[in-house]
Amino acid sequence: MTIPFNIPYSTGQELHYIGQAIAAHKTAGDGPFTKLCQSWMEEQYGFKKCLLTTSCTDALELAALLLNIQPGDEVIVPSYTFVSTVNAFALRGATLVFADSTARNPNIDPASVAALITPKTKAIVVVHYAGMACDMEAIMQMATAHNIFVVEDAAQAIDAYYKGKPLGSFGHLAAFSFHETKNIQSGEGGMLVVNDERFSRQAEILREKGTNRAAFFRGEVDKYGWVAVGSSYLASDITAAFLYAQFEQLKNIQATRCQIWQRYHQAFLPLAQQGVLQVPEAIEGSSENGHMYYIVCKNLDQRNALIARLKEQGIQAVFHYLSLHSSAYFAAQYKGAALPHSDQYTDCLVRLPLYAALSSEQQTQIINCILEFFKD
Ligand SMILES: *Cc1c(COP(=O)(O)O)cnc(C)c1O
Repeated sequence: MTIPFNIPYSTGQELHYIGQAIAAHKTAGDGPFTKLCQSWMEEQYGFKKCLLTTSCTDALELAALLLNIQPGDEVIVPSYTFVSTVNAFALRGATLVFADSTARNPNIDPASVAALITPKTKAIVVVHYAGMACDMEAIMQMATAHNIFVVEDAAQAIDAYYKGKPLGSFGHLAAFSFHETKNIQSGEGGMLVVNDERFSRQAEILREKGTNRAAFFRGEVDKYGWVAVGSSYLASDITAAFLYAQFEQLKNIQATRCQIWQRYHQAFLPLAQQGVLQVPEAIEGSSENGHMYYIVCKNLDQRNALIARLKEQGIQAVFHYLSLHSSAYFAAQYKGAALPHSDQYTDCLVRLPLYAALSSEQQTQIINCILEFFKD
């Protein structure tokens, strides 16, 4: 492949900070770099409490534990998402209730959610696909009316906003990812955001093997021990050191990615207006964070032909999620309605290379190849 789908960003400062962590003999979790990463996000976005985790998957599992999800509790989730969004709640024995995506983009459709709420609904999990905001006004209104918790899977939504408020600040809890495929990365890594202060204390405890170690180090208790059933979700300070270097460069990274995103958008918008394909269409009030550029083809055959055409030219473009309600694991248990939009994105969506190291010439090549394809 001459143009890979992704190249993880590196600032050049990662090894320097990792060296500092090693020299300071602070390499375990909750060290100085962990605190720097957490307070960076708290200050930058006004989040009440941030806790660094080993992954977004772990942050979501922590969220499911904090909400005390029990067998029989219903959790409404999008079908068009990564498995981790849903696994976290399946692990607690939740009854999974799959909602459809909207027609304009793969985000969860509030109308689909509304039809699925029952007295057993304990939580709604939303995913801000490609960093585009879900309709958080509609979701939070429903959740408040029915006394339901909301978790934002904000894995792709760093530095993205809805009506001026950062994504990750709407739900009771939110989870970010720093996997190498995300805008800023530490190989693996995640952040749990606690917006509802009722969960602050318990979040610290469950993340630290069910102990009150954090309170002990603040001097609030004179010994620490086992106070709840928890696990270890801390990232090492080596990971945090790597990640901190990325936080320092976030604004630059975002600017570069958004520029590339805009150029794709200008190139493909006319085709969308002619009804040839579909491009990302955010709801009003949603910002663009340059996480991903995708196009939606007419059907599966066209999508596969486009991926093959790009591959012939050495360009790696990839499809994305497979509807979870019709997955090998879940299909036999699924009793809900058809989810046509989720299935449409499963068959027709293709993601294009987008990263800082993508040169302008390379992007021209990708754009030209796609324009040629749709001319035929
Ligand atoms: C990347 C991603 C995850 C998983 O993140 P990890 O940090 O790899 O666990 C979960 N949900 C969505 C929507 C993602 O894009």
